[in-house]
Amino acid sequence: MSKPIKPGKTRQSAIEPVRLRARDYAVTPDDISQSALQIVDRLEQAGFQAYLVGGCVRDLLVGGHPKDFDIATNATPEEVRNLFRRAHIIGRRFRIVHVRSGREITEVTTFRAHHEEGSAVEAASSEHGMLLRDNVYGDIESDALRRDFTMNALYYSPLRGEITDFTTGMADIQARQVKMIGDPVTRYQEDPVRMLRAVRLASKLGFDIEEQTAEAIFDLGHLLANVPPARLFDEALKLFMSGHAAAVYPELRRFGLFSWLFPETGELLTADPIADPLIQQAAVNTDERIQNDKRVTPAFIFAVILWPAVVARQKRLEEDGIPAVPALQQAAQWVISRQVQRVAIPKRFTIPIREIWEMQLRLPRRNGTQAFRLLTHPRFRAAYDFLLLREQAGEDHQGLGAWWTRFQEADEGQRNAMVSELQGSGRKRSRKRPPRKRKSDGQ
Ligand code: ATP
Ligand code: MG
Repeated sequence: MSKPIKPGKTRQSAIEPVRLRARDYAVTPDDISQSALQIVDRLEQAGFQAYLVGGCVRDLLVGGHPKDFDIATNATPEEVRNLFRRAHIIGRRFRIVHVRSGREITEVTTFRAHHEEGSAVEAASSEHGMLLRDNVYGDIESDALRRDFTMNALYYSPLRGEITDFTTGMADIQARQVKMIGDPVTRYQEDPVRMLRAVRLASKLGFDIEEQTAEAIFDLGHLLANVPPARLFDEALKLFMSGHAAAVYPELRRFGLFSWLFPETGELLTADPIADPLIQQAAVNTDERIQNDKRVTPAFIFAVILWPAVVARQKRLEEDGIPAVPALQQAAQWVISRQVQRVAIPKRFTIPIREIWEMQLRLPRRNGTQAFRLLTHPRFRAAYDFLLLREQAGEDHQGLGAWWTRFQEADEGQRNAMVSELQGSGRKRSRKRPPRKRKSDGQ
């Protein structure tokens, strides 16, 4: 049986809801997708309560464009499913209903309570005080209080033109702050991912994190080690692939969270002068690409984040006498196998990540047909971008990146000339160079 959590601590005392005229805050049904409006309509006609809630209301209030519209209702998942033709109950941790119309999917969630109000069978918590399952249904007020931040607990009824605020959501949005509902320490213990959400949403919205909500994070990063790695992967994607990575990354470091997500890299961020600028630059570039609707792959940013750890490990293996290529391969294997225990990066990304790394050793070798072959490698473009990034971050590769830029732009004849020039200068240089010392010399 699950361990009950002491009531009282996690709940704010019930306060009178404040009802606000949505129009006064420039929120109108025109801002809401047609399908979401129809779903709310249908639920209300069937006698249920239905509201738009969470990120969409918040984003509208700060003048943003919501990426999706979530609905909260007092209808159970089964009741919701029975009302709509194309509706499916999904989720294990939270049972929610996906209602489809056209290509749009709207999430409909039943009001939930904090689990101490429901039966111990439906809600479970781990020994760390984390919520494992949270399927206890409740009313709108309990639903508001179990949400994470006040700004995420506003309920908009397009039919009544009203926003209901059970906490201090509207005031906090106006003060531009992320404030936890209830006691921050308890709420982070229940679900440590809330720490990442605080950082991500503050960076995305340009908000501050309210003092106590922020203070608690500094001491609680270690709780992330108890979160299932698959969930941390989903969250890591949101942190780095939502167009705000450049703001998120330094905040993760400031709160000491980065090292809990990426322990191997985190450990050497202060010692390695290239690591931090490399990741920061990759974050800037990723945001820029998203801004310009260019393709981004998580493989690239994860390759960058883990690269400093791979290089450090490779160096140690080389010092033990292992040649560069197998040393890099072993280092890659070692870093990835440790990383996936914390953030479960799936195989479909770890394979290209390794290829990007291995290509870093091949890019300097351009003699004969090598450069031509590399150019046709499916991972060439990512590996080349990776090289440019390393140079941007302060590594000196004697113009290697610029050489590859010219090589790609050149025609066949020019490419041949570039390669022979390389061989020419290579021969000249090798004549001047003293015979290479073998590692075993002098031992
Ligand atoms: P965005 O979609 O812009 O990333 P969001 O706030 O909409 O931000 P979702 O993950 O879509 O984030 O969650 C929808 C709503 O569910 C949130 O606004 C919040 O009210 C609630 N919520 C999400 N995650 C948690 C959590 N870990 N603990 C408590 N409430 C949560
Ligand atoms: Mg959302």
